[in-house]
Amino acid sequence: MKKIAILGSTGSIGTQTLQVVEANQDIAVTALAAGSNIERLEEQIRKFHPKLVCVWEEAAAKELRSRVRDCKLHIVSGMEGLLEVATEPEAEIVVTAVVGMIGIRPTLAAMEAGKDIALANKETLVTAGHLIMPLAKQKGVRILPVDSEHSAIFQCLNGENGRQVDKILLTASGGPFRGRTRQQMANVTLEDALKHPNWAMGRKITIDSSTMVNKGLEVMEAKWLFGVEMEQIEVVVQPQSVIHSMVQFVDGAVMAQLGTPDMKLPIQYALYYPERRYLGGERLDFAALKSISFEAPDFENFSGLAMAYQAGKEGGSLPTVFNAANEYAVAKFLNRKISYLQIPEMIAFAMARHKKVEAPSVAQILETERETYECLESRWKFA
Ligand code: NDP
Ligand code: MG
Repeated sequence: MKKIAILGSTGSIGTQTLQVVEANQDIAVTALAAGSNIERLEEQIRKFHPKLVCVWEEAAAKELRSRVRDCKLHIVSGMEGLLEVATEPEAEIVVTAVVGMIGIRPTLAAMEAGKDIALANKETLVTAGHLIMPLAKQKGVRILPVDSEHSAIFQCLNGENGRQVDKILLTASGGPFRGRTRQQMANVTLEDALKHPNWAMGRKITIDSSTMVNKGLEVMEAKWLFGVEMEQIEVVVQPQSVIHSMVQFVDGAVMAQLGTPDMKLPIQYALYYPERRYLGGERLDFAALKSISFEAPDFENFSGLAMAYQAGKEGGSLPTVFNAANEYAVAKFLNRKISYLQIPEMIAFAMARHKKVEAPSVAQILETERETYECLESRWKFA
């Protein structure tokens, strides 16, 4: 029996991970963590019988304890609780499906405890990749990508020599505003931005996909996961989301992974790697699909992507500023406090004011996050 822990079990990736668990007889969940959705946690506890559950807020944890007092398990809260879930002794793999930089400490703790990581939480790798990748090597643990593009690249690299990679071709759908100018995006509403053409995901990543910031984060994620330079990563817009990404080798050969858009595939591949398992669901129908089209990305109107390249190339603490400013801005946009184009504006503002720290420690990363928030708060002054 393979045992796993899931950080962010009530979210989009978390619930799809549990669907994969449900469909397979030889995998079980020992620990779960979530923010505040105790209704869904209660359902998950009754169905999957974890031994340990963390709810971020203590008040919600208390309520959950009383709801499931007939079940045998331990319920914890806060960062200490999250770290406990990440290091639960029986789990071999920790699925990191929380959203945002909050994943840094639990991911590192899980690795220290010798766990393999099924990594969905890209913000952690973007901000702390220089700590995570060497630690993985030192501890002999694997970082198994869950993000669909990175899983595709990982699949293309299977059995290949990573040193013979010429380029990573990271595909992007272009999001709901592909083809628009900045001016045409000025009045975009929250509802418009939450409509992704091909994937159903959590709210933050859906906004990130619309601004192309998600692709920017993914470029940096690919840099760390596959040990390539930023210059070797090329974004290819492929609006149908059929090609999940490609690798070009030194001899000019291009390998691609294709499929219908279903996150259960990369999740299951990470959990069973290197084995492939049956997975139900739709298959690609090329006759019905007829064509797959390609475009170059629009760096000018989607400046989030251009700023991500800049942050990734300069490195140090700059990717943290890029990411933290985006997390801050997207939270404000989701709460209808700012307009759509203020998202890239805030990122640019914070990046321009930052004094870079080389190879930041965890404490310096978290300090940079706090400083970025302060910098934005002092400029925009939200009530
Ligand atoms: P969701 O918003 O759907 O889910 C986030 C999860 O994190 C929820 O379970 C939430 O709990 C939990 N959470 C939030 N705050 C805390 C906290 N303080 N402590 C513990 N848990 C917390 O996000 P997604 O599933 O869409 O995304 C998760 C990660 O995966 C992101 O980094 C995203 O970029 C990445 N990803 C997602 C894809 C997708 O298809 N969704 C595709 C590729 C990558 P609660 O519900 O209780 O608030
Ligand atoms: Mg992706």
